[in-house]
Amino acid sequence: MKTIDNYHFQGKKALIRVDFNVPLDDQFHITDASRINAAIPTINKILDEGGSVILMSHLGRPKEGPEDKFSLKHLLPYLSEKLGLDVQFANDCVGQEALDLASSLKPGEVLLLENLRFYKEETKGDESFAEKLARLGDVYVNDAFGTAHRAHASTAIIASFFPDEKLFGYIMGNELKNIGKILHDPQRPFTAILGGAKVSGKIEIIRNLLDKVDNLIIGGGMMFTFIKAMGGDIGNSLIEEDLVELARETLVEAGNIGTRILMPIDAVAASAFENDAEKIVCKAGEIPEGWMGLDIGPETQLLFADVIKSSKTLLWNGPMGVFEMSNFEAGTKSVALAVAETTGKGAFSLIGGGDSVAAINKYGLAKQVSYVSTGGGAMLEYIEGKQLPGVVAVTTDQ
Ligand code: AMP
Repeated sequence: MKTIDNYHFQGKKALIRVDFNVPLDDQFHITDASRINAAIPTINKILDEGGSVILMSHLGRPKEGPEDKFSLKHLLPYLSEKLGLDVQFANDCVGQEALDLASSLKPGEVLLLENLRFYKEETKGDESFAEKLARLGDVYVNDAFGTAHRAHASTAIIASFFPDEKLFGYIMGNELKNIGKILHDPQRPFTAILGGAKVSGKIEIIRNLLDKVDNLIIGGGMMFTFIKAMGGDIGNSLIEEDLVELARETLVEAGNIGTRILMPIDAVAASAFENDAEKIVCKAGEIPEGWMGLDIGPETQLLFADVIKSSKTLLWNGPMGVFEMSNFEAGTKSVALAVAETTGKGAFSLIGGGDSVAAINKYGLAKQVSYVSTGGGAMLEYIEGKQLPGVVAVTTDQ
Protein backbone atom coordinates (compact mmCIF):
# COMPACT_ATOMS: atom_id res chain seq x y z
CA MET A 1 0.00 0.00 0.00
CA LYS A 2 1.30 3.46 -0.87
CA THR A 3 1.23 5.13 2.53
CA ILE A 4 3.14 8.10 3.89
CA ASP A 5 5.34 5.66 5.81
CA ASN A 6 7.12 4.91 2.54
CA TYR A 7 8.01 8.53 1.83
CA HIS A 8 10.35 11.12 3.27
CA PHE A 9 8.85 14.61 3.25
CA GLN A 10 11.93 16.78 3.81
CA GLY A 11 11.63 19.97 1.76
CA LYS A 12 8.34 18.79 0.22
CA LYS A 13 5.00 20.57 0.20
CA ALA A 14 2.35 17.96 0.94
CA LEU A 15 -1.16 18.72 -0.31
CA ILE A 16 -3.43 16.70 1.97
CA ARG A 17 -7.12 16.02 1.33
CA VAL A 18 -8.51 15.77 4.85
CA ASP A 19 -12.06 15.33 6.09
CA PHE A 20 -12.59 18.37 8.32
CA ASN A 21 -16.35 18.27 7.84
CA VAL A 22 -16.98 18.80 11.57
CA PRO A 23 -20.19 19.95 13.26
CA LEU A 24 -20.23 23.62 14.38
CA ASP A 25 -22.60 25.34 16.81
CA ASP A 26 -24.21 28.81 16.36
CA GLN A 27 -21.00 30.52 17.49
CA PHE A 28 -18.95 28.44 15.05
CA HIS A 29 -17.38 26.40 17.83
CA ILE A 30 -16.56 22.82 16.92
CA THR A 31 -18.88 20.46 18.79
CA ASP A 32 -17.07 17.25 17.83
CA ALA A 33 -13.45 17.55 16.70
CA SER A 34 -12.76 13.84 16.21
CA ARG A 35 -12.25 14.17 12.46
CA ILE A 36 -9.64 16.87 12.94
CA ASN A 37 -7.96 14.98 15.77
CA ALA A 38 -7.77 11.85 13.62
CA ALA A 39 -5.75 13.69 10.95
CA ILE A 40 -3.13 15.08 13.34
CA PRO A 41 -0.71 12.08 13.14
CA THR A 42 -0.53 12.37 9.34
CA ILE A 43 0.15 16.13 9.54
CA ASN A 44 2.74 15.74 12.28
CA LYS A 45 4.66 13.01 10.48
CA ILE A 46 5.13 15.36 7.51
CA LEU A 47 6.06 18.38 9.63
CA ASP A 48 8.46 16.35 11.79
CA GLU A 49 10.35 15.27 8.69
CA GLY A 50 10.84 18.85 7.52
CA GLY A 51 7.97 19.06 5.10
CA SER A 52 5.21 21.65 4.93
CA VAL A 53 1.49 20.97 4.78
CA ILE A 54 -1.39 22.35 2.74
CA LEU A 55 -4.76 21.16 4.00
CA MET A 56 -7.87 21.02 1.83
CA SER A 57 -11.34 19.90 2.86
CA HIS A 58 -15.04 20.47 2.43
CA LEU A 59 -17.34 21.65 5.22
CA GLY A 60 -21.11 21.26 5.08
CA ARG A 61 -23.09 21.58 1.89
CA PRO A 62 -22.75 25.12 0.55
CA LYS A 63 -25.26 25.65 -2.25
CA GLU A 64 -24.02 28.49 -4.38
CA GLY A 65 -20.46 29.78 -3.84
CA PRO A 66 -18.94 31.06 -0.58
CA GLU A 67 -21.05 31.20 2.61
CA ASP A 68 -19.55 32.40 5.87
CA LYS A 69 -21.14 29.65 7.94
CA PHE A 70 -19.32 27.03 5.88
CA SER A 71 -15.93 28.79 5.96
CA LEU A 72 -13.02 26.67 7.09
CA LYS A 73 -11.57 29.75 8.82
CA HIS A 74 -13.78 28.79 11.79
CA LEU A 75 -11.51 25.80 12.34
CA LEU A 76 -8.27 27.85 12.50
CA PRO A 77 -8.14 28.52 16.28
CA TYR A 78 -8.71 24.86 17.15
CA LEU A 79 -6.32 23.55 14.52
CA SER A 80 -3.56 26.01 15.51
CA GLU A 81 -3.90 25.06 19.16
CA LYS A 82 -3.95 21.35 18.41
CA LEU A 83 -0.81 21.54 16.24
CA GLY A 84 0.93 24.07 18.49
CA LEU A 85 1.65 26.52 15.65
CA ASP A 86 -0.01 29.35 13.73
CA VAL A 87 -1.87 27.80 10.84
CA GLN A 88 -2.09 30.13 7.82
CA PHE A 89 -5.30 30.52 5.86
CA ALA A 90 -6.07 31.10 2.17
CA ASN A 91 -9.46 32.76 1.55
CA ASP A 92 -9.86 30.80 -1.65
CA CYS A 93 -8.75 27.22 -2.30
CA VAL A 94 -7.45 28.07 -5.78
CA GLY A 95 -6.12 31.28 -7.39
CA GLN A 96 -3.23 33.68 -6.83
CA GLU A 97 -3.52 34.09 -3.04
CA ALA A 98 -3.47 30.35 -2.48
CA LEU A 99 -0.56 29.96 -4.92
CA ASP A 100 1.46 32.73 -3.22
CA LEU A 101 0.83 31.41 0.28
CA ALA A 102 1.64 27.85 -0.79
CA SER A 103 4.85 28.81 -2.55
CA SER A 104 6.17 30.84 0.39
CA LEU A 105 5.38 28.06 2.89
CA LYS A 106 8.50 27.00 4.83
CA PRO A 107 9.28 23.58 6.28
CA GLY A 108 7.21 23.02 9.42
CA GLU A 109 4.45 25.43 8.33
CA VAL A 110 0.80 24.66 7.66
CA LEU A 111 -1.66 26.32 5.30
CA LEU A 112 -5.41 25.67 5.41
CA LEU A 113 -7.39 26.31 2.23
CA GLU A 114 -10.95 27.64 2.10
CA ASN A 115 -13.84 25.20 1.56
CA LEU A 116 -13.42 23.18 -1.64
CA ARG A 117 -17.18 22.99 -2.13
CA PHE A 118 -17.42 26.74 -2.64
CA TYR A 119 -16.72 25.57 -6.19
CA LYS A 120 -19.23 23.31 -7.93
CA GLU A 121 -16.26 21.92 -9.84
CA GLU A 122 -15.21 20.01 -6.72
CA THR A 123 -18.16 17.61 -6.57
CA LYS A 124 -18.37 17.49 -10.35
CA GLY A 125 -14.84 16.12 -10.46
CA ASP A 126 -13.74 18.89 -12.80
CA GLU A 127 -10.29 18.24 -14.21
CA SER A 128 -9.10 21.82 -14.65
CA PHE A 129 -10.17 22.65 -11.07
CA ALA A 130 -8.23 19.58 -9.88
CA GLU A 131 -5.22 20.79 -11.86
CA LYS A 132 -5.40 24.22 -10.16
CA LEU A 133 -5.40 22.55 -6.76
CA ALA A 134 -2.56 20.27 -7.82
CA ARG A 135 -0.33 23.30 -8.54
CA LEU A 136 -0.18 24.02 -4.79
CA GLY A 137 1.81 20.98 -3.68
CA ASP A 138 4.66 18.63 -4.63
CA VAL A 139 3.06 15.47 -3.28
CA TYR A 140 -0.59 14.47 -2.85
CA VAL A 141 -1.82 12.72 0.29
CA ASN A 142 -5.37 11.43 0.57
CA ASP A 143 -6.47 11.03 4.19
CA ALA A 144 -10.23 11.50 3.75
CA PHE A 145 -11.73 8.03 3.91
CA GLY A 146 -15.23 9.45 4.45
CA THR A 147 -15.28 10.82 0.89
CA ALA A 148 -13.26 8.05 -0.78
CA HIS A 149 -16.42 6.72 -2.47
CA ARG A 150 -16.84 9.99 -4.36
CA ALA A 151 -14.98 10.81 -7.58
CA HIS A 152 -14.54 14.46 -6.64
CA ALA A 153 -11.78 16.75 -7.89
CA SER A 154 -9.81 16.71 -4.62
CA THR A 155 -10.47 13.09 -3.66
CA ALA A 156 -9.74 11.29 -6.92
CA ILE A 157 -9.26 13.37 -10.09
CA ILE A 158 -6.33 15.33 -8.64
CA ALA A 159 -4.25 12.15 -8.18
CA SER A 160 -3.49 11.94 -11.90
CA PHE A 161 -1.43 15.14 -11.57
CA PHE A 162 0.89 13.36 -9.15
CA PRO A 163 1.69 10.15 -11.05
CA ASP A 164 4.61 9.20 -8.81
CA GLU A 165 3.87 11.23 -5.72
CA LYS A 166 0.47 10.16 -4.41
CA LEU A 167 -0.01 8.48 -1.07
CA PHE A 168 -2.52 7.46 1.60
CA GLY A 169 -2.39 9.17 5.00
CA TYR A 170 -2.72 7.20 8.24
CA ILE A 171 -6.54 7.36 8.43
CA MET A 172 -6.92 5.96 4.93
CA GLY A 173 -4.21 3.38 5.53
CA ASN A 174 -5.84 2.15 8.75
CA GLU A 175 -9.31 1.95 7.27
CA LEU A 176 -8.12 -0.02 4.26
CA LYS A 177 -5.99 -2.32 6.37
CA ASN A 178 -8.75 -3.11 8.86
CA ILE A 179 -11.61 -3.47 6.39
CA GLY A 180 -9.29 -5.42 4.10
CA LYS A 181 -8.50 -7.78 6.96
CA ILE A 182 -12.11 -8.88 7.34
CA LEU A 183 -12.84 -8.99 3.61
CA HIS A 184 -9.74 -10.86 2.48
CA ASP A 185 -8.23 -12.68 5.40
CA PRO A 186 -10.73 -13.27 8.21
CA GLN A 187 -10.06 -15.73 11.00
CA ARG A 188 -12.94 -18.16 11.24
CA PRO A 189 -15.69 -18.39 12.25
CA PHE A 190 -16.53 -15.03 10.71
CA THR A 191 -19.85 -13.53 11.77
CA ALA A 192 -21.47 -10.43 10.29
CA ILE A 193 -24.18 -8.72 12.32
CA LEU A 194 -26.41 -6.49 10.23
CA GLY A 195 -29.25 -4.33 11.45
CA GLY A 196 -30.66 -0.87 10.97
CA ALA A 197 -33.86 0.37 9.47
CA LYS A 198 -33.76 -0.59 5.85
CA VAL A 199 -32.94 -3.61 3.73
CA SER A 200 -32.48 -1.31 0.74
CA GLY A 201 -29.28 0.16 2.17
CA LYS A 202 -27.91 -3.23 3.17
CA ILE A 203 -28.96 -5.79 0.59
CA GLU A 204 -25.83 -5.36 -1.55
CA ILE A 205 -23.68 -5.84 1.53
CA ILE A 206 -25.63 -8.92 2.54
CA ARG A 207 -25.22 -10.41 -0.93
CA ASN A 208 -21.49 -9.61 -1.11
CA LEU A 209 -20.91 -11.09 2.33
CA LEU A 210 -22.90 -14.30 1.76
CA ASP A 211 -19.96 -16.35 0.50
CA LYS A 212 -17.43 -14.69 2.81
CA VAL A 213 -18.99 -15.18 6.23
CA ASP A 214 -19.86 -18.31 8.20
CA ASN A 215 -22.76 -16.68 10.04
CA LEU A 216 -24.95 -13.77 9.09
CA ILE A 217 -27.06 -12.29 11.86
CA ILE A 218 -30.00 -10.17 10.76
CA GLY A 219 -31.75 -7.80 13.17
CA GLY A 220 -33.19 -4.29 13.26
CA GLY A 221 -36.13 -3.01 11.25
CA MET A 222 -34.89 -4.79 8.15
CA MET A 223 -35.44 -8.21 9.72
CA PHE A 224 -39.15 -7.89 9.04
CA THR A 225 -38.71 -7.91 5.27
CA PHE A 226 -36.92 -11.25 5.71
CA ILE A 227 -39.54 -12.54 8.14
CA LYS A 228 -42.26 -11.61 5.66
CA ALA A 229 -40.29 -13.44 2.96
CA MET A 230 -40.45 -16.54 5.17
CA GLY A 231 -44.21 -16.19 5.48
CA GLY A 232 -44.32 -14.60 8.95
CA ASP A 233 -46.81 -12.05 10.28
CA ILE A 234 -45.18 -8.71 10.97
CA GLY A 235 -48.12 -6.47 11.95
CA ASN A 236 -47.23 -2.80 11.45
CA SER A 237 -43.46 -3.36 11.51
CA LEU A 238 -41.17 -1.75 8.94
CA ILE A 239 -41.45 -3.46 5.57
CA GLU A 240 -40.06 -2.95 2.10
CA GLU A 241 -42.53 -4.87 -0.03
CA ASP A 242 -40.48 -4.49 -3.20
CA LEU A 243 -37.57 -6.29 -1.56
CA VAL A 244 -39.44 -9.28 -0.13
CA GLU A 245 -38.67 -11.38 -3.22
CA LEU A 246 -34.97 -10.47 -3.16
CA ALA A 247 -34.87 -11.27 0.55
CA ARG A 248 -36.39 -14.70 -0.22
CA GLU A 249 -33.82 -15.35 -2.96
CA THR A 250 -31.03 -14.31 -0.62
CA LEU A 251 -32.19 -16.82 2.00
CA VAL A 252 -32.31 -19.59 -0.61
CA GLU A 253 -28.85 -18.68 -1.90
CA ALA A 254 -27.44 -18.72 1.63
CA GLY A 255 -28.90 -22.20 2.07
CA ASN A 256 -27.31 -23.37 -1.18
CA ILE A 257 -23.82 -22.22 -0.27
CA GLY A 258 -24.07 -23.30 3.36
CA THR A 259 -23.92 -19.89 5.02
CA ARG A 260 -25.87 -19.86 8.27
CA ILE A 261 -28.37 -17.04 8.48
CA LEU A 262 -29.61 -16.23 11.96
CA MET A 263 -32.93 -14.48 12.22
CA PRO A 264 -34.67 -13.34 15.40
CA ILE A 265 -36.85 -15.92 17.15
CA ASP A 266 -38.70 -13.36 19.24
CA ALA A 267 -39.25 -9.62 19.13
CA VAL A 268 -40.32 -6.76 21.37
CA ALA A 269 -43.39 -5.23 19.77
CA ALA A 270 -44.93 -1.87 20.63
CA SER A 271 -48.41 -0.42 20.22
CA ALA A 272 -46.89 2.77 18.76
CA PHE A 273 -43.50 4.19 17.70
CA GLU A 274 -42.89 5.76 21.11
CA ASN A 275 -40.66 4.93 24.03
CA ASP A 276 -43.63 4.82 26.45
CA ALA A 277 -45.88 2.79 24.19
CA GLU A 278 -47.32 -0.44 25.52
CA LYS A 279 -44.97 -3.33 24.74
CA ILE A 280 -45.10 -7.12 24.49
CA VAL A 281 -42.66 -9.90 23.70
CA CYS A 282 -43.89 -12.23 20.96
CA LYS A 283 -42.57 -14.62 18.33
CA ALA A 284 -40.78 -12.67 15.61
CA GLY A 285 -43.08 -14.09 12.93
CA GLU A 286 -46.25 -13.56 14.96
CA ILE A 287 -46.45 -9.82 15.50
CA PRO A 288 -50.13 -9.07 16.17
CA GLU A 289 -52.10 -6.82 13.84
CA GLY A 290 -51.59 -3.16 14.82
CA TRP A 291 -48.28 -3.79 16.68
CA MET A 292 -44.79 -3.04 15.44
CA GLY A 293 -41.55 -4.85 16.22
CA LEU A 294 -39.01 -2.39 17.60
CA ASP A 295 -36.34 -4.69 19.06
CA ILE A 296 -35.16 -8.28 19.10
CA GLY A 297 -36.51 -10.29 22.04
CA PRO A 298 -34.70 -11.91 25.00
CA GLU A 299 -34.39 -15.40 23.46
CA THR A 300 -32.89 -13.87 20.34
CA GLN A 301 -30.42 -11.89 22.44
CA LEU A 302 -29.13 -15.17 23.88
CA LEU A 303 -28.98 -16.86 20.47
CA PHE A 304 -27.10 -13.97 18.87
CA ALA A 305 -24.72 -13.61 21.83
CA ASP A 306 -23.87 -17.33 21.62
CA VAL A 307 -22.98 -17.10 17.94
CA ILE A 308 -21.00 -13.88 18.48
CA LYS A 309 -19.04 -15.39 21.35
CA SER A 310 -18.02 -18.41 19.27
CA SER A 311 -16.62 -16.19 16.47
CA LYS A 312 -13.06 -15.10 15.70
CA THR A 313 -13.97 -12.25 13.33
CA LEU A 314 -16.92 -9.89 13.78
CA LEU A 315 -18.34 -7.20 11.56
CA TRP A 316 -21.19 -5.16 12.99
CA ASN A 317 -23.26 -2.65 11.06
CA GLY A 318 -26.63 -1.34 12.19
CA PRO A 319 -28.55 -1.50 15.48
CA MET A 320 -30.80 -4.43 16.43
CA GLY A 321 -33.71 -2.17 17.33
CA VAL A 322 -34.70 1.41 17.99
CA PHE A 323 -31.81 1.85 20.43
CA GLU A 324 -32.38 5.61 20.68
CA MET A 325 -35.44 4.73 22.84
CA SER A 326 -34.44 3.22 26.19
CA ASN A 327 -37.29 0.68 26.15
CA PHE A 328 -36.10 -0.77 22.84
CA GLU A 329 -32.33 -0.69 23.27
CA ALA A 330 -31.77 -4.01 25.05
CA GLY A 331 -31.07 -6.00 21.88
CA THR A 332 -28.52 -3.52 20.54
CA LYS A 333 -26.86 -3.25 23.95
CA SER A 334 -26.60 -7.03 24.32
CA VAL A 335 -24.95 -7.32 20.88
CA ALA A 336 -22.53 -4.48 21.77
CA LEU A 337 -21.61 -6.22 25.03
CA ALA A 338 -21.15 -9.61 23.33
CA VAL A 339 -18.91 -8.06 20.64
CA ALA A 340 -16.79 -6.32 23.29
CA GLU A 341 -16.51 -9.48 25.41
CA THR A 342 -15.51 -11.59 22.41
CA THR A 343 -12.92 -9.02 21.36
CA GLY A 344 -11.49 -9.22 24.88
CA LYS A 345 -10.96 -12.94 24.29
CA GLY A 346 -8.94 -12.36 21.14
CA ALA A 347 -11.45 -11.96 18.30
CA PHE A 348 -11.07 -9.17 15.73
CA SER A 349 -14.09 -6.85 15.60
CA LEU A 350 -14.89 -4.06 13.21
CA ILE A 351 -17.77 -1.69 13.86
CA GLY A 352 -18.94 0.57 11.07
CA GLY A 353 -21.81 2.66 9.86
CA GLY A 354 -23.15 5.71 11.71
CA ASP A 355 -25.67 4.12 14.03
CA SER A 356 -23.65 1.16 15.23
CA VAL A 357 -20.79 3.55 15.97
CA ALA A 358 -23.27 5.73 17.91
CA ALA A 359 -24.44 2.62 19.79
CA ILE A 360 -20.96 1.40 20.71
CA ASN A 361 -20.15 4.91 21.97
CA LYS A 362 -23.43 5.12 23.89
CA TYR A 363 -22.47 2.01 25.86
CA GLY A 364 -18.88 3.21 26.37
CA LEU A 365 -17.43 0.20 24.53
CA ALA A 366 -15.50 1.88 21.69
CA LYS A 367 -12.15 1.03 23.31
CA GLN A 368 -13.15 -2.59 23.77
CA VAL A 369 -13.58 -3.39 20.08
CA SER A 370 -10.74 -3.78 17.57
CA TYR A 371 -11.60 -1.02 15.11
CA VAL A 372 -14.34 1.57 14.70
CA SER A 373 -14.56 2.72 11.10
CA THR A 374 -15.15 6.41 10.50
CA GLY A 375 -16.12 5.74 6.92
CA GLY A 376 -19.92 5.60 6.90
CA GLY A 377 -20.98 5.42 3.25
CA ALA A 378 -17.43 4.75 2.06
CA MET A 379 -17.07 1.76 4.36
CA LEU A 380 -20.40 0.31 3.27
CA GLU A 381 -19.50 0.62 -0.41
CA TYR A 382 -16.13 -0.98 0.22
CA ILE A 383 -17.81 -3.92 1.94
CA GLU A 384 -20.32 -4.14 -0.91
CA GLY A 385 -17.30 -4.94 -3.06
CA LYS A 386 -17.28 -1.66 -4.96
CA GLN A 387 -14.08 0.08 -6.04
CA LEU A 388 -13.70 3.40 -4.23
CA PRO A 389 -12.57 6.16 -6.64
CA GLY A 390 -10.40 7.79 -3.95
CA VAL A 391 -8.60 4.51 -3.36
CA VAL A 392 -8.26 3.51 -7.00
CA ALA A 393 -6.85 6.96 -7.90
CA VAL A 394 -3.95 6.51 -5.49
CA THR A 395 -3.28 2.82 -6.05
CA THR A 396 -3.33 2.70 -9.85
CA ASP A 397 -0.37 3.90 -11.88
CA GLN A 398 -1.40 6.56 -14.32
P1 AMP B 1 -29.70 2.50 9.35
O1 AMP B 1 -29.38 3.94 9.12
O2 AMP B 1 -30.36 1.82 8.20
O3 AMP B 1 -28.52 1.73 9.92
O4 AMP B 1 -30.82 2.49 10.47
C1 AMP B 1 -30.60 2.92 11.78
C2 AMP B 1 -31.94 3.21 12.41
O5 AMP B 1 -32.73 2.06 12.37
C3 AMP B 1 -31.87 3.62 13.85
O6 AMP B 1 -32.23 4.97 13.95
C4 AMP B 1 -32.89 2.73 14.53
O7 AMP B 1 -33.73 3.41 15.41
C5 AMP B 1 -33.68 2.18 13.38
N1 AMP B 1 -34.30 0.89 13.67
C6 AMP B 1 -33.70 -0.22 14.12
N2 AMP B 1 -34.59 -1.20 14.32
C7 AMP B 1 -35.80 -0.70 13.98
C8 AMP B 1 -37.12 -1.25 13.99
N3 AMP B 1 -37.36 -2.49 14.37
N4 AMP B 1 -38.11 -0.44 13.56
C9 AMP B 1 -37.85 0.82 13.16
N5 AMP B 1 -36.64 1.38 13.15
C10 AMP B 1 -35.62 0.63 13.56
